[in-house]
Amino acid sequence: MLPQPVMQKAQEELLDWNGQGVSVMEISHRSKEFIALTEQAEADIRDLMNIPSNYHVLFMHGGGRGQFAAVVNNLLGEQGKALYLVDGSWSSAAVEEAKKLAGDAQIDTLNIVEKTNGISRIVVPDLNEIKQDYRYLHYCPNETVDGIEIFEEINSPWPIVADMSSNIMSREIDVSRYGLIYAGAQKNIGPSGLSIVIVRDDLLAYPQLTQASIMDYRLAVKHDSMFNTPPTFAWYLAAEVFKWLKAQGGVAEVAKVNDRKAETLYAYIDSGDFYENRVAVANRSKMNVTFYLKDESLNEPFLAEAKAAGLVALKGHRSVGGMRASLYNAMPLVGVEALVSFMKAFAEKHV
Ligand code: PMP
Repeated sequence: MLPQPVMQKAQEELLDWNGQGVSVMEISHRSKEFIALTEQAEADIRDLMNIPSNYHVLFMHGGGRGQFAAVVNNLLGEQGKALYLVDGSWSSAAVEEAKKLAGDAQIDTLNIVEKTNGISRIVVPDLNEIKQDYRYLHYCPNETVDGIEIFEEINSPWPIVADMSSNIMSREIDVSRYGLIYAGAQKNIGPSGLSIVIVRDDLLAYPQLTQASIMDYRLAVKHDSMFNTPPTFAWYLAAEVFKWLKAQGGVAEVAKVNDRKAETLYAYIDSGDFYENRVAVANRSKMNVTFYLKDESLNEPFLAEAKAAGLVALKGHRSVGGMRASLYNAMPLVGVEALVSFMKAFAEKHV
């Protein structure tokens, strides 16, 4: 979901952006008007996330998976090793891509999910005990498919690379704890295709593997994320989302609303016997609430009746089944309340 005021503004100015008489999609990305847009976008994301000055902000192609590859190619070199923490589907996919590009020998993995009585929880061992010289530690603080989120800060002796595709700007974080943060845009930032990379200066000097120029961080820095033609419309919408976030009072305020949304839904799920969540309370995602109907034969009627009530995109990922409600920044509290009312009515009808 994208913020409705942003979509409305985009609709209003689709054919005539910024008094140019043409769409933002039709002007040169090198025009002074578009450059002004990109400068404002960068200033706004720096402000929203409190990004220190020794970090670069890149607007790149290729979404989250593009960064699975870019991270490896930019940071590992021929000799380096990296450690990947695995807590669900997307961190596993990142491992698969890293091994494909660098080979098994350069990629170590560590499973950090413990399952007891069907409940998953995150257990991160003391990483300082691991005597290895890794170039970086990769992890995914919010596993979109599994509905698992890591709220604790990871203590790592190596630079941390975090895939924040599905929880960037959902709550405040201390950017200075990370070597690199990346996110596919399509959850909290804008349309798909774009990815945001926030990278600390010193990581740009790491030995690289041979790679496509458009994924090269150094080239992206040198060319202000315009080594080739960037996804201009996605960048424009991202810039509008940043303005919207600032108008909401910034990340701290949005985080309060996100807390209430998640609390409302989990409290209802926990309140009866009809639905269940299978994640330990400390690791329940605030962005992706996964839940199961105890009687799974009611899954199809649940989805059909939800759709008829105007509630869509609730089907869980095919790999895990069940249901998933994504409560990204643009989802208002009333959206969650509408879902809870529907779930109550459905449970009463089918109990
Ligand atoms: N990482 C995470 C955490 C995701 O949620 C997703 C997409 N759902 C991806 C990576 C992959 O993103 P993309 O489809 O933009 O490549």
